[in-house]
Amino acid sequence: MKTLRIEALLLLALTQVQCAAVPEVRVGPSGLLGEGTAFETPWFDHRGAKDGPTILITGGMHGNEPAGVAAADAIASWTVKRGRLVVAPRMNPPALAASQRRTPGLEGSLGDLNRHFPTGGEVFEGVATDLWELFEQVQPDWLLDLHEGYAFRRLNPDSVGSSIISCADPRAVELAEAMIAAVDATIVEEDRKFTLLRNPIESSFARAAWENAGVPSMILETTYGKYPLPEGGERRYSVSHRARQHRLMVHTFLTELGMEPCSSEVLIDPRVTGERVRVAIYDDLGASVGGAKGLERVLSEYDRVETRRVCSVDVVAGSLSQFDVVLHPGGSGSGQANSLGEAGRVREVEFIRSGGGYLGVCAGGYLAACNYPWSLAILDARTIDTKNGNWRRGRAELEIELTAAGLGLFGDMDPNFDVRYANGPIYAPGEREEIPDYETLAVYRGEVAENGTSKGVMPGTPALIRGRFGAGRAVAFSPHPESTQSLQHFIRDAVLWAAGRD
Ligand SMILES: [Zn+2]
Repeated sequence: MKTLRIEALLLLALTQVQCAAVPEVRVGPSGLLGEGTAFETPWFDHRGAKDGPTILITGGMHGNEPAGVAAADAIASWTVKRGRLVVAPRMNPPALAASQRRTPGLEGSLGDLNRHFPTGGEVFEGVATDLWELFEQVQPDWLLDLHEGYAFRRLNPDSVGSSIISCADPRAVELAEAMIAAVDATIVEEDRKFTLLRNPIESSFARAAWENAGVPSMILETTYGKYPLPEGGERRYSVSHRARQHRLMVHTFLTELGMEPCSSEVLIDPRVTGERVRVAIYDDLGASVGGAKGLERVLSEYDRVETRRVCSVDVVAGSLSQFDVVLHPGGSGSGQANSLGEAGRVREVEFIRSGGGYLGVCAGGYLAACNYPWSLAILDARTIDTKNGNWRRGRAELEIELTAAGLGLFGDMDPNFDVRYANGPIYAPGEREEIPDYETLAVYRGEVAENGTSKGVMPGTPALIRGRFGAGRAVAFSPHPESTQSLQHFIRDAVLWAAGRD
């Protein structure tokens, strides 16, 4: 973590040096595509201090391919010493909002934005025209378009998942081979390794770049579909894990071109400071897919908060040092602890101890507790009524009541209301000397006691708690306020408190 901190400081120092020569400070977007339309989306422009190639990187053409967006969001924060990086992370906002491949409301070939760029013809009207205008304005030397396939190419040759689709340019093919070698070095299983394919599909942005404008291009494809497990069943890589593969391929590309990019571990602009709060959302095994996505959506409503998803490898690599708060969503507490591993858990505890913030929702609340061999012990809270390992009290809308401290944090409101509960932790003081006592923000008034759990245990126990740990702060929510529209600000308020911005 220390080395990354130093690296971030170095980046900052380098940037300041660069800014003396190049009067560009890139905080926030450099421009908007489709301004005033449903397709309005930012693009980012970074110039290195020295001459070099111009690279256009695009993501989010298809709304059901989130890893390309997550990677492009991170890459939009990268710096290079030579050349220029232009990044448009989310090209199709309506499809992304709907989490579907095709643009909502458009029929036939019109629905697929990546079929709007015919070879030898005019690009389609609308967002494709805006994209092509950006392309002509930037005059890139290269185009990299980030996508995802539904299946691993080596398991299902009908899909382009886990491949690089290169244009016919020999230098592009050579670079694609180096990029594949770099990402394959991180994959043990032969059938999940990458494949080099040729010729991006007709009417795609990448095909038009090469055939209509002579600009070499590649489509980078990770895989959102599942792979079979040797012990039976199947699993998929998390969005953050797939985004990590994209970052590694793009980083190899920039390095091969001599652009001297910053570390591929950079996820968020180190200059995004001041009022803004940077939140890492844990998105790996044990975190529910819907939970991470839901919390990301809730926080995207707030201008002061910027989020990135992180996987266990990111955490172990020290990436939390780039953030103010780490957020653990619902799912399984022991599952998240397992995927973090011992090394990841040590990083998390060290992050909070040295001044970072923590918010755990439901499973994330189990992870913060002090009574499991795998829990982080950053709150002096133990979970009770766990006899026979039975933590499943059930799911229900339950009444909770805010304390004075809760009203202070979440604002003036009726202190009693219902909130969604889904097998969250039931807390009691942990009585661990070395951890400061927690403060109760709300208590349960209602109860659910299914699956053989004890009745009469839950009412009066803490539902929302917060505490200090070292120089940092931790908050745990047993229920899910983010599931109720009028309570979604609880997530923001807790994040701001955990970040020390109250
Ligand atoms: Zn795609």
